[in-house]
Amino acid sequence: LSTPSSPIYNNDRLVFNHIFDHTPSAIFHPSSEADAAAAVACAAAHNVSIVPRSGGHSFEGYSGGGKTGSLVIDLNLFQQFAIDHDTAIATVGAGNRLGPLYTKLWNAGEYLVPAGSCPGVGVGGHALGGGMGMVGRKYGTLSDNIVGLTMVDANGNIWKVNATSRPDLFWALRGAGGGSFGLVTEFRIQAYKAPATVTTVLAMYPWNMLQTVTDAFGMWAENVADDFTPLMYLGRDMVVVMGTFLGSQDKAQIALASLFALTGSPLQTNFDEGTWYQAAAKWAEMEGAKLEDPFAEHARSFRLRSLLYRQAISDRELAIISKYLNNPPNNPNGRVTTTVIFEIWGGKIDNPSSTSAFDNHRGTLYSIQYGADWSLSSSGSGSICTACMDWSERFAKELQAAYSSGQGLEAYQNYMERDIPNGLRAYYGDNLSRLIKVKKSVDPGNIFMFPQAI
Ligand SMILES: Cc1cc2nc3c(=O)[nH]c(=O)nc-3n(C[C@H](O)[C@H](O)[C@H](O)COP(=O)(O)OP(=O)(O)OC[C@H]3O[C@@H](n4cnc5c(N)ncnc54)[C@H](O)[C@@H]3O)c2cc1C
Repeated sequence: LSTPSSPIYNNDRLVFNHIFDHTPSAIFHPSSEADAAAAVACAAAHNVSIVPRSGGHSFEGYSGGGKTGSLVIDLNLFQQFAIDHDTAIATVGAGNRLGPLYTKLWNAGEYLVPAGSCPGVGVGGHALGGGMGMVGRKYGTLSDNIVGLTMVDANGNIWKVNATSRPDLFWALRGAGGGSFGLVTEFRIQAYKAPATVTTVLAMYPWNMLQTVTDAFGMWAENVADDFTPLMYLGRDMVVVMGTFLGSQDKAQIALASLFALTGSPLQTNFDEGTWYQAAAKWAEMEGAKLEDPFAEHARSFRLRSLLYRQAISDRELAIISKYLNNPPNNPNGRVTTTVIFEIWGGKIDNPSSTSAFDNHRGTLYSIQYGADWSLSSSGSGSICTACMDWSERFAKELQAAYSSGQGLEAYQNYMERDIPNGLRAYYGDNLSRLIKVKKSVDPGNIFMFPQAI
């Protein structure tokens, strides 16, 4: 337990995005479900709001409280892992980070689960908000693969939640579960034997091909093979299509040929054949991190947002993206990186084996994640780059105003942003009223609370 008078408190309260500077009333690291349940019951009895923390990677720093005075319950000691080889169902403590989880799965018999590429992201928040990753089109989101959870509710009761035990809560937790209903301590997740060969793909284009490649990417995204989960990265000077192909280099080249037929030959391509674990390690290294050591991925200061598109973006939206990437902000403290990343959804993401609170997003063609991150001078107010924040706000306002994909904005709850207009609608769509009902039944006192909670 650390409190404001503890020497470790100032370090303990930091989350991955250093622009936030919340001061919780205390941070508790339980080592058992019983400990966690006792802490929840104590906080509830004193009407102190509770914020669970797993990997601390919330874009909005919500696992630091999202405001002052909360009790943060950090699950970093929940590192348990086991796999049933008959069913390939993995039991995973909520405090596992993605990188170490990939290592445990691989060492247990060359298994994988579909999830993101950053090794420091926590299984807890990631799985509860969807979990879009390197092989999502083949296997779905991480939350689609949850078959059971253990959750401590606001009364301090411990529940096993699955399709037959508290089915409404099971529905809600998979997609809308981050921070709103209770403290999830453990997941049961369907894993898969990794295919023998996996190919990582990179294709680079010059910046002046932005329009051609974006148009081609949108058309190609409609029909790309489910063995491939590609993304398109717009940096400052380069357009890069990259991804993980489940299969050999020859087959990956065939999958890419239809894109290259639309774009012409890229400046440079790289097809790298190996194992699944090598592919995951390669993407982690591109983040400057190692799978086995998620803490090598340094905390950052960033303002990133998302929008979901059911059809390719309009020329007007691309012109806005181009304008902002061509005019990046100046960070007086050092580096600033501006990015827009298009991630193709579809495939198994559109055909989950059971219904969940993520269903409102089925049918998404691609998501875009956009914004800026910059180097730190220190944490808290020292990590604010005013020009970067201002650039991000203006970019968001203009892109949201030009949104062409539907009546209201649709956005991804794992890339939560506090100032998106009508945010809960953007994240949960028509599921919102059912989610509110579940919330009222499981946490009527609103003890699990952060600024954008259900
Ligand atoms: C560098 C980086 C890379 C990312 N890459 C991807 C990606 O490839 N794909 C993708 O889909 N997303 C990605 N994300 C987004 C990420 O999935 C979400 O931010 C996710 O919520 C982080 O989970 P966490 O446990 O690390 O975060 P936390 O900050 O600990 O938690 C996030 C939210 O979930 C709640 N929560 C956490 N644990 C629990 C729990 N055990 N029980 C109940 N509620 C809980 C918290 O209270 C908070 O509201 C990335 C984020 C970052 C910063």
